[in-house]
Amino acid sequence: MPVKIDSIADLYRKLPSVDELQRSSELAALAASEGQAAVTDAARAVLASLRQEISDGRLDASAVDLALSGLENAIIRRVRQSLKYSLHPVINATGVILHTNLGRAPLPASTLEHIRETAASYSNLEFEVETGERGKRDVHVDRLFRKLLDESAATGVPARGAEPGISTIVVNNNAAAVLLALNTLAEGGEVIVSRGELVEIGGSFRIPDVMSKSNAILREVGTTNRTRVSDYEKEINDKTRLLLRVHRSNFQITGFTEQPQIEELVSLARKRKLPLVEDLGSGALFDLRLIGVKGEPSVLDSLRQGVDVVTYSGDKLLGGPQAGILSGRSDLIARMRANSLFRALRVDKLTYAALEATLLAYVKGDHDAIPALRMMHLSKEEIGRRAEAVAEKIIPSRLSLEVIDGESVIGGGAAPSAVLPTRLLAIACEGLSADEFSSSLRAADPPIIARVEDGRVLLDLRTVFPQQDEAIVKALIEVARK
Ligand SMILES: *Cc1c(COP(=O)(O)O)cnc(C)c1O
Repeated sequence: MPVKIDSIADLYRKLPSVDELQRSSELAALAASEGQAAVTDAARAVLASLRQEISDGRLDASAVDLALSGLENAIIRRVRQSLKYSLHPVINATGVILHTNLGRAPLPASTLEHIRETAASYSNLEFEVETGERGKRDVHVDRLFRKLLDESAATGVPARGAEPGISTIVVNNNAAAVLLALNTLAEGGEVIVSRGELVEIGGSFRIPDVMSKSNAILREVGTTNRTRVSDYEKEINDKTRLLLRVHRSNFQITGFTEQPQIEELVSLARKRKLPLVEDLGSGALFDLRLIGVKGEPSVLDSLRQGVDVVTYSGDKLLGGPQAGILSGRSDLIARMRANSLFRALRVDKLTYAALEATLLAYVKGDHDAIPALRMMHLSKEEIGRRAEAVAEKIIPSRLSLEVIDGESVIGGGAAPSAVLPTRLLAIACEGLSADEFSSSLRAADPPIIARVEDGRVLLDLRTVFPQQDEAIVKALIEVARK
């Protein structure tokens, strides 16, 4: 029944003012802990929506009384909601280890400790404590990269003869690293790239776009499926500044294909005195064959083969913070450091602290300290045992549950086809479609992100931290109960 106009005015009169509301002891206490502004905003918003409902004629006197009795709680809930972090943890049960949408590499615990102790106070970020002079921020990680990448340091045998050694600088992400390399080495000149490598990589990274932003001119050679070293050679002229090779990352060309061997490109680049830059994308600092992935060069492989500069991400196979890393010939890296773009793309102390701690784990050979690497090393049997343990805790209910063979994905554009054998929990819930089931898992706290395939929800515990298994059991029981 529509409410009469005059009674709407009466209903409005029942509402307290914001001031009156804030005098309640509960809201005063809330203001003391969460701040007056948040409480005032929430009180205004709750009253405004109540007024709106009254003016829409949706509330009668008793409904308004009911709403008034819950007013304080509504305000408290709203304050809590408005002050909640937007960025929060989720459980990644997709089995994609370097999941770009879920924050790529989870950081090693030592990185958090190092960030806490250096970033919450002052540090020697750009200060040489011994001499009292201004220092460079990149020294903190360059020394570790030298240990990991410069063979002469590791074996006493100079890796590159009389050539300059290997230096490394760090920028915001790999897209920035490619931009910096192209702008420094090829601004105003031409860069030769194979048509088979002009790919778009997650989050709209496109080589032609980066190329034009860097003020270099793209010279495409070969065809999508076949490019020979002679194609590069024919295109070289006096405007050519560098040869670029790009890892295809998320994309694979099979069948009738040809790409020059890296050795061929290296010898062409040396013959014509041009730098060869390789955008590795993922850039592993360990041997991927250890986890059964073949044909993927590590950063060290590429440098040993004679690539002059490689660019790669900090939060892909390296397993550290977001960063773009340029490693290569010291003379070329020095030119990049001197480019004013480097200043615009440089990273913060948080990144240096996280990267230094991650690299230290590599230097110590402690790969298990790096969560992404630990997840890659997990055996199918180990994951299967955990999946069985979860399954056993689910008492017969609306859930039908099975542990089956499947594949985890390294992700992050590591190797497009690189998968790891795993065991999956395949679950169906009576009365719910697989999509509804997976959305109710996303509504859990913390949200559980799963795969949906063939009408079932698939959970891959490879990317779930063992201490999160219990939260999965709880959420599954909860969903089945509803
Ligand atoms: C991932 C990737 C990029 C982009 O790296 P970001 O660190 O995400 O900026 C560029 N090139 C290749 C080959 C990649 O795999």
